[in-house]
Order: sequence, then C-alpha cells, then structure tokens
Amino acid sequence: MTELTGLSLIGYGRGDKSGATLRGVNPATGEQLPPLFYGATLAEVDAAAQLADKAFAEYSQLPGRARGAFLRCVADKVEALGLPLIERVAQETALPAGRIQGELGRACAGLRMFAAVAEEGSWVDARIDHAEPERQPAPKPDLRSWLRPLGPVAVFGASNFPLAYSVAGGDTASALAAGCPVVVVAHYAHPGTAEMVGQAVRDAAEECGMPEGVFSLLYGVGNDVGQALVKHPLLTAVGFTGSRRGGLALLQLANNRSAPIPVYAEMSSVNPVFVLPGALRERGAEIAAGLAGSVTLGVGQFCTNPGLVILSKEAAATSFLAQLQNALTDYPTPMLTASISKAYREGISARRNIKGVSVLSETLGDESEHGDASALMCASVKAFLENPSLAEEIFGPTTLVVTHETRDEVLQLARNLEGQLTATIHGTDEDLREWAALVRILETRAGRLVFNGFPTGVEVCHAMVHGGPFPATSDGRTTSVGPRAIRRWARAVCYQGFPAAALPAELLDENPLGIQRIVDGELNGPHSEPRI
Ligand code: NAP
Repeated sequence: MTELTGLSLIGYGRGDKSGATLRGVNPATGEQLPPLFYGATLAEVDAAAQLADKAFAEYSQLPGRARGAFLRCVADKVEALGLPLIERVAQETALPAGRIQGELGRACAGLRMFAAVAEEGSWVDARIDHAEPERQPAPKPDLRSWLRPLGPVAVFGASNFPLAYSVAGGDTASALAAGCPVVVVAHYAHPGTAEMVGQAVRDAAEECGMPEGVFSLLYGVGNDVGQALVKHPLLTAVGFTGSRRGGLALLQLANNRSAPIPVYAEMSSVNPVFVLPGALRERGAEIAAGLAGSVTLGVGQFCTNPGLVILSKEAAATSFLAQLQNALTDYPTPMLTASISKAYREGISARRNIKGVSVLSETLGDESEHGDASALMCASVKAFLENPSLAEEIFGPTTLVVTHETRDEVLQLARNLEGQLTATIHGTDEDLREWAALVRILETRAGRLVFNGFPTGVEVCHAMVHGGPFPATSDGRTTSVGPRAIRRWARAVCYQGFPAAALPAELLDENPLGIQRIVDGELNGPHSEPRI
C-alpha cells in the first residue's frame, strides 16, 4: 500500500511541511483521518508551474504513441492500487464500495481511451491546402494546419467523482493526451485518495521517462493555492468541476489576468425531465420508479441529477406523484462533505418556504448522524416562473415537480430554462410528433437530449456530449466527457510555405501516420467520418 505522506507532489519531488494543514474526514462518522496534509506554499505553486512549463517544451513534442504509453501506464498503476484505494475512497467519501469500484473502472477506461486517441493521432485535425502558384489573379500559398497543445494547465479535482473526475480523471487524461502538463489542485474532501492516485501518476511518468513537471499535485487550505495557480503567468488553461460560485470565481480570475486564459468549468444543471401525456398514461409507474432511482443515485450528488420534472395536471399525474413519493422514501445516507450536506439542507429549507411550493415528502435524516435523504416538492408553472430560485440546482437527492395545464405553459417554461447538461423527454411517438416544438427549444438549452431514459448515466464514448450552455458549463461549445474533450487543451497552428523537411509527420503529403486529414478540401484517409 502507498504510504501517505500528506505532502504535495511537485514534479518528482515533494512539498514541505510549512503550509497550513488539513485532514480527510469520514462523512459517515465525522472522524478525522490520518495523516495530516500540508497545503502548498506560494513558492511551491510557482515551482510546480515552472517545472510544468519546462516539461511542456519536451512533452508537447513527443509522438502520440509515447503519450499513449504514459497514459496506459497511469491506468495500470491506478488499477494496481486495488483494495487499499477502494478502502481509502470509502473512508473519505462514504460512497459504497460497488460504486467506487465502478468509478475506478471508469477512470481507467477513460485514461486508456485518451491513450488510444493520442496514439491514433487524427485528433490533431490536420488540414492541407496545396499551393497553386499559377492561380490568377494571385498565386495560392501552401497552407497546412493542425491542433497543438496550449501549455501547462490547472485541473481542480471534483468532490463528487473522487476517481473519474479528480487527480487522474477525465480533465487530466485529456490534457495529458493533448500534450499539456497538468498541475492538479486536490479536493479537500479526499486528500488521501488524491495522494494515492497522484503517486501512481508520478511513478508512471518516471517509469515512462516523461520530463519532470509533466504532473504535479498540490494541496490547498482555503482558496489561495488554486487562485495562485490560475493567476500564474505560465498556466494556459483551467479545468474545473464544482459549484457555480467556485467556477465563476475562477473564470473571473482568469479573465482578469493580463493575459486571460480559458476556464472549462462544469458547474450547475437541474437536468429537466419532461413527462409527456402519452408516456404518463402508458408507463407512469415505470417512469416514476426510474426517476426515483435517478434522483437518489449517489445521494443525488451527480451533475446530471434530475432536479426538475415537468408533468401535466391530468388524472394520471396524481398516481404518478404517489408512486414517485413511495419510491423516494429511503434510509438517510451521508453526503460527501459537511458543507455539501449543509448547502443541501439550506436549499431544501429555503425552497419549502417559497409561496406556491408544496412538500410532498421529506425524509431528511438527523443532522448529528450525518444523514441526508430525499425531498419531493411540487409547484405550478406560474409559481416556477415567478420564483427564479426554483430553477436553481439543489445539489442532492431532491426534485421539484412542476405541473402544467397547457402546452404553451410548458414551452414557456422550457424557453425560460438556463443552460443544462441534459434535458429528458419521456414520450410516445405521437407525443414526439405533437411536441416537436419542445425538442427544438431544448436543443438550444442542453448539451444532451435523452429520450425515454434517465440522465444520470454518462457513457464514455465518441458521441457523448457532457457540456451545455451557461451555467451548466462556462463554455457550451465543449464537452468534458468523450474524446472531443481533448480539443479544450489545444489551438490550431498554420504553417504557410514550409518545406517538407521542416513539417511534422502529421502534415507531410505522404501521411506516414495514416491519420485522417482534410486535403484540398476533401476528407482523405482511412476513416470516412471524423473520429473526434
Ligand atoms: P466547490 O466549492 O466549487 O469546490 C471545488 C474546488 O474548487 C475545491 O477544490 C475548492 O477549493 C475550489 N474552489 C472553490 N471556489 C474557489 C475560489 N473562489 N477560488 C479558488 N478555488 C476555489 O465544490 P464542492 O466543494 O465540490 O461542493 C460544493 C457545492 O458545489 C455543492 O454543494 C454543489 O452545489 C456544487 N457541486 C456541483 C457539482 C456539479 O457537477 N454540478 C459537482 C460538485 C459540486 P476549496 O475547497 O479550498 O475552496
């Protein structure tokens, strides 16, 4: 088992013990866990950024297969952490072992997927336009472009995915695949997990001969470390998953730099579920059961948690609500941190007191027992539209059912929604025909539209979009899941009139790497469709 030191990992070295301290906490018992973790000093933040910048010169020039081998080695080493890692995650998060095991598999599959993307190489989106020296009235020059990595990036680990969206999660894997060194800010809620995984990444880097500084892991107490990193002049982009407030604070910091940098922040989404009349009549009980499972999955601590259900006021709705209410009554389970639990309880209390909101069921546990459970509330479209706070995310196992009397009300509600990661429709074929206007509106509001399913499962694959307009993310043009996520960490560079001897293999006429490219305006290569 990895011996936990409580120290930041700065390149191949360690931070010292002069910073402020923190401990992991078991959310199920409140027990403080050993060891003591030491926050990085500002000098250590600078050292990590300097090393990352130095590493970038070499790392960005490595062939994709070298970066792929490194990512595969990271996956092998994280997987090899085995039971001690699962146990530490369980202690620090109170998540059940099965969920953690699944998330470990997902994290390692993600690392290997980005390894394959780097190795295959078409992600660089190579484009060649040959010269036309005889063209009139002016000759056309030879132009060739591809995507190049931005430079060192900062990644903030997410509390709710301690493996799949933390130290070696999707943001880190996609940035490393692109050729960007990564400096991770460990989430305070799972510092031991972060060190175990961070040590595995560091060991893989050394074993694969990667330049020192390709990866660092910093602990922070308060916001100083994260903020210093975002402001550091050598950093070129930021990946973040967490609260709207936190994401916006980092976005503002990045924009206020003398050289602003992109922040890819995934923040808040209520993931509306529209239960259309035909589906309500045909499959009401089934939808209610599935919805309850989706709302309470992982104590509601999923960014795709369905926090809003839109339902007609017809007779079938009454039994649907009773079924949903029954299915939601469960035993309290602890949330990830005391502050997430507090924010959840405060959100529920505030919502309960809004005029026009009725509480259908509430099974909040005893605060002293660190228990949190579901709450089901109901309001009309009118009340929803009059109270903007009803459209805000309450992070946890709760959902708000909004009942409507007319189709216009539903379309009006949809038009008033903020940006979402997902929007779901339960309907029959006839519902879909009748509600085509709703689909058109939702397309402008969400990154992923789900039909007759539930939004909480996020498949890691080429077609996945896990993004959406603000406030779901800070940049709705991107995704943080799936191979397209790599593009966040790259920009296009064009070479005009360069001789073959000075061009990278990806841009040579003979296409020695066999990647997909656009040559003189036509797709040319082994694949007929773009791969990312
Ligand atoms: P958070 O408070 O946003 O914190 C996430 C990370 O960002 C932490 O490392 C935090 O460091 C850092 N951070 C936050 N504000 C910062 C600032 N102003 N400057 C620099 N760093 C900053 O998220 P959380 O602790 O995971 O959970 C709190 C709430 O976030 C939840 O109740 C929920 O509402 C929301 N959340 C949403 C999602 C989602 O996917 N939609 C996921 C997780 C959480 P410090 O802890 O040191 O401040």
